[in-house]
Amino acid sequence: MSVELITLGTAAGPAIRGPENGISSALVVDGAFYMVDFGLGCTRAAHQAGLRGKDLAAGFVTHLHSDHVVELPGFLLWNWGSPVDGFTAPVSILGPGRDETHPAGDSLAGTSELVAHALKAYSYDIDIRVHDEARPDLASLLRTVDLATPAHGSADAARPFDVYEDSRVKVTGILVEHPPVRPALAFRFDTDAGSVVFSGDTAECASLAVLASGADVLVHEAVNLDFYAGKGFAPAFLNHQQISHTTPEGAGRVAAAAGVGRLVLSHLAGRAEPEWWSSRACAYFDGPVDVAASGQRFAVGAALASAV
Ligand SMILES: [Zn+2]
Repeated sequence: MSVELITLGTAAGPAIRGPENGISSALVVDGAFYMVDFGLGCTRAAHQAGLRGKDLAAGFVTHLHSDHVVELPGFLLWNWGSPVDGFTAPVSILGPGRDETHPAGDSLAGTSELVAHALKAYSYDIDIRVHDEARPDLASLLRTVDLATPAHGSADAARPFDVYEDSRVKVTGILVEHPPVRPALAFRFDTDAGSVVFSGDTAECASLAVLASGADVLVHEAVNLDFYAGKGFAPAFLNHQQISHTTPEGAGRVAAAAGVGRLVLSHLAGRAEPEWWSSRACAYFDGPVDVAASGQRFAVGAALASAV
């Protein structure tokens, strides 16, 4: 079995502060691939990485901030049907449901509604291509799931839960702390050849260390608080960065607590040189630390030492 992680995009958003694509990762397992988040540029990045829709098995959404889902509609439309080497068999899309803790949560879209609304918005194009190009009906191929997640603050909130399973991967999740966004999820992929955990967006989170325990690779977000403080952003924005994201030192602490084999920093909020990020994480984590770039590839498991 071969397992490869590709960090398709590594930037936080919604803002363009440099050349990196928005946050998105792919895990390629024996030729099939799994997407985690759909940030700006993920469609082109996946294509450039050699990924084609016909090999897409499932997509996972960590939370519903736009920088994680903005290109989900485009990714599906650009990877659907044989004319584009796209998927013609069912594909699962899994993510958080509605925010039950939000005062207007009943009227705000979760993952399945986000997809349904996108299909409605593009219904003319989809209909044309079904009849004019003999593509399969897109809606009938999508298995969209609002994940049943533990209630925030409940006894189960700190326990992993089942997300997805097929012949190649078993995916579990856990709630992480990304206030005021709820649910915010981290995902763990276990395969016969190794395991990879994606933090999603989170403050430094003990639950994440539970989910990531003993994993081969932890892909963790990081924020440079000094960058934002130095730019004169409003106090509310600075407060969000502080209570909802993790410093590279914190990512190092989580990696050490979990005992992972490798820490990959991605979703980098605020600009800094790679050494700035890695040196701070390395102060708390003895293993290898990578500051991911868009399109970077990491062999997972037995071949991990060949990471480039
Ligand atoms: Zn977020």
